Amino acid sequence: MAEDQICTSWINGKPVAPSASTDYLPIIDPADETEVGRLAIADSDEVNLAVEAARASFDQGTWRHLGHEKRKQILHRFADLIDEHAEELVRLEVTHTGLPIHFVRQMHLPRAAENLRFFSEFVSQSPGQVYSQSDGYITHVVREPVGVCALIGPWNMPLGLSLMKVAASLAFGNSCVLKPSEFTPLSFGLLMELTNQAGLPPGVLNLVNGPGHITGQSLVSHPDVDVISFTGGTETGRRIGALAGGNLKAMSMELGGKSANIVFDDADLQAAVEGALIAAFANNGQACLAGSRLLLHERIADAFLADFVAKAEAIKIGDPKDNETRLGPLQSKRHMEHVLRYVDVAKCDGARILTGGGRAAGFENGYYINPIVAEVASNQARICQEEVFGPFVSVIRFKDLDEAVAIANESEFGLVGYVWTQDIGRAQSVSQRVKAGVMWVNTSMQRDLRAPFGGYKNSGIGREGGEACARLYSEEKTITYKIIPPRESA
Ligand code: NAP
Repeated sequence: MAEDQICTSWINGKPVAPSASTDYLPIIDPADETEVGRLAIADSDEVNLAVEAARASFDQGTWRHLGHEKRKQILHRFADLIDEHAEELVRLEVTHTGLPIHFVRQMHLPRAAENLRFFSEFVSQSPGQVYSQSDGYITHVVREPVGVCALIGPWNMPLGLSLMKVAASLAFGNSCVLKPSEFTPLSFGLLMELTNQAGLPPGVLNLVNGPGHITGQSLVSHPDVDVISFTGGTETGRRIGALAGGNLKAMSMELGGKSANIVFDDADLQAAVEGALIAAFANNGQACLAGSRLLLHERIADAFLADFVAKAEAIKIGDPKDNETRLGPLQSKRHMEHVLRYVDVAKCDGARILTGGGRAAGFENGYYINPIVAEVASNQARICQEEVFGPFVSVIRFKDLDEAVAIANESEFGLVGYVWTQDIGRAQSVSQRVKAGVMWVNTSMQRDLRAPFGGYKNSGIGREGGEACARLYSEEKTITYKIIPPRESA
C-alpha cells in the first residue's frame, strides 16, 4: 500500500481534490502501527456539496425513476464487481481493521456483495396492497423512496455493515451520502470507483470522510437529509437520535450490546464451547452481537470452563494478513488500552481472571492482546454491564432457568441472546423471555437478511432486514380511486 494514499470524499461520481486548507488524519495499520495513508477531512462545506449532489440526483429522478429492473441490473453488476475485486478489497479491509483475513475473506466481503443482490431482489419482488372491498372505490398502497439518506457506519466491519445500508437505501430508489468511520476509510475509494463501473448515475451514492464530531455531525444535522441510518456506539446514537428527533427525521439506530450466552447443563457441551468461542472472539471480539456475558449452569460450569479457557488460549494470535490467524490486533492503540483497562475494573469487582489480561507476547509492534476470560460472582459488576468491545468474556454461574433469564435481562442492552440446550421447551421459554431483538438457539451469529435485526433497550431503535428496511427507506402512499362507470358510447 502506498504510504501517500489519500482517502477523499467522492461527490457526483468523482473524488474531491483536497484544497490547501484541508486537514488530514493519519490512517494506521494496527498490525504494525505504520501510517498507511491519510484521510482528507470533509468539512461542513464539503458535506453540503455531497448532500446537494444526492438531492439533485433524487429530484432529477436519474435513479428512482430508472425502473426496478434497470436498478436491479446495476446493483447486481456492482455486486459482481465487488466479487471480482474481492482480494483487493479484502487486503484494504484487513489493513485498516486488523481483522483476520480469513474472516474478512469468508464473511465480510461475500456479505457486502450479497447485500446488494438481496435488496435489489427483495424490492423487485415486493407486492403492494390493494383494497377493493369498498363499493365504488379501490385503494392501493405503493412504496416510494424517501429522498436523501445519511448512512453512518462503524469501524468493526466497515464494508459489510455500510453495504447493508447502501444496498437497502439504493434498492428502494433513494440517493445517499455515506460516512464510514474515520479509522477505516481505506476500502471506500475503490468501492466508489466500482459504482461508476457498475453504471450507478453520478450523485446517487456520495462518500464523505472525516471524524464524527465534524463530518458526521454536519451530515446528520443537514436539513436536506430525510433519513438517518446509524450503526455505532450507544452514546453516539443518543446524540444523533436527539438531533434526528428534533428535526423529525426518520432513523434507525443499531447500537451496542452486552449479550448473554446461556449454557444449560443438558447442552451439547462441545458444540456450546465452540459456539461460545465464536460468540466471544470472532471479529477480534469487536462485534456488537458478541456473546460477551457467558452464563453457565453451575453443574457444568467447571467442565465447560476448563475446555473453553484451554481453547481460548490456543486461538492463533498473529498477523491479520496470515490466513491461519484467528485473533488479530485490536483496531487502535486507544481501543486496546480501553479493553485492557477492563482487566483492572474486573479485579476491582473481585473477578477471577481465568486467562489473559495483557498484551500478547512476540509482537514488537501492533495492538495484540491475549483473549481474556474473567469470572465474576455478580452481574452487577461493571464487566457485566458495560460493553468492552474486545476479546473479553465475563462469566457468571446460574442455578436455574429463572435466574438465567433474570441475569440476561439485567442489562441496559438487548441486542441478541444465545441459548444452548437440548430441551426444546427450555429453548423456547428462554427465547421468549429474554429481552433481545434476536435469539440464537444452539448456534452462533447466524444472520438471515430476510429477518429483522436490531436491538431492544439501549441497543437500538428500529431494525434492519428485508421488510424492516422497506419501512425505513420508503414511504407508504395510499391512493384511492373512485370507480367511474364507462361513458355512454356515442
Ligand atoms: P461510534 O464511535 O459510535 O462511531 C460510529 C460512527 O458514528 C462512526 O462513523 C463515527 O465517526 C460516527 N460519529 C461519531 N460521532 C458522531 C456524531 N456526533 N455525528 C455523526 N456521526 C458520528 O462507534 P464505533 O466505535 O465506530 O463502533 C463500535 C460500536 O458500534 C460498538 O458500540 C458496537 O456495539 C456498535 N455496533 C453496533 C452494531 C449493530 O448492528 N447493533 C454493529 C456494529 C457495531 P468516527 O469514527 O469518524 O468518529
